[in-house]
Amino acid sequence: MADRRKLAAGNWKMNGTAAALSEVTALAGSQGEARCEILLCPPATLVERMAREAEGTNIAVGGQDCHAAESGAHTGDISARMLKDAGATYVITGHSERRADHGESDEIVRHKTEAAWAEGLTVIVCVGETLSEREASNTIDIIKGQLAGSIPDQATGHNLVVAYEPVWAIGTGKVPTTDQIGEVHDVIRSQLERRFGPGVGRSVRLLYGGSVKAANAAEIFAVENVDGALVGGASLKADDFGGIIAAL
Ligand code: PEP
Repeated sequence: MADRRKLAAGNWKMNGTAAALSEVTALAGSQGEARCEILLCPPATLVERMAREAEGTNIAVGGQDCHAAESGAHTGDISARMLKDAGATYVITGHSERRADHGESDEIVRHKTEAAWAEGLTVIVCVGETLSEREASNTIDIIKGQLAGSIPDQATGHNLVVAYEPVWAIGTGKVPTTDQIGEVHDVIRSQLERRFGPGVGRSVRLLYGGSVKAANAAEIFAVENVDGALVGGASLKADDFGGIIAAL
């Protein structure tokens, strides 16, 4: 099996002002010996300051989204180059909240991912089914379609991370069974191996996301092909996120 470094990624969503940067200091202080990689994705307004705060620590900083274009007339958007310039090394694309709130299709997600790769960022591409899709037994088809449409051809184990985030589990406290998580992660792994070859396919890290907390993290991390987590609410406080990191 490929040697995949575990990743604990936090998505702060639209939360946090400068005062919240004290959580980064606290997290860095408590996680100096962490075996896994740690990533925080704050709102765009905090990327640069967080990157400064995290300098010299084992915490990487990422964006929550980027535009597919390098620059131009796109009011309110930010480009991958801007994220990189601000100190980010990662970016999330295709989060279900972007897909739902901003109508982002697989094609848009793929273009954003390409733009981020052009700047040397590692991209966490999110996929996941809605509750009605799961109830209609369409989960696997939805995941396969999102993978095929959202991930560009140039994937490597370094530039790509895939996060499986069932939409119905995000921020709801509902978590799939470990069998359900394992089934989807196995499908993602085999799809990546089939498309990119076993070397690349086995080296891409797969994260689970959706109501991960310190209390359920160990059980989720024990599932095969789960290489870490993408965490929303429980990444906002150093103590909560630290509890999840400790389980990796
Ligand atoms: C997320 O935002 O990607 C997420 C998984 O949120 P939460 O952990 O709050 O469910």
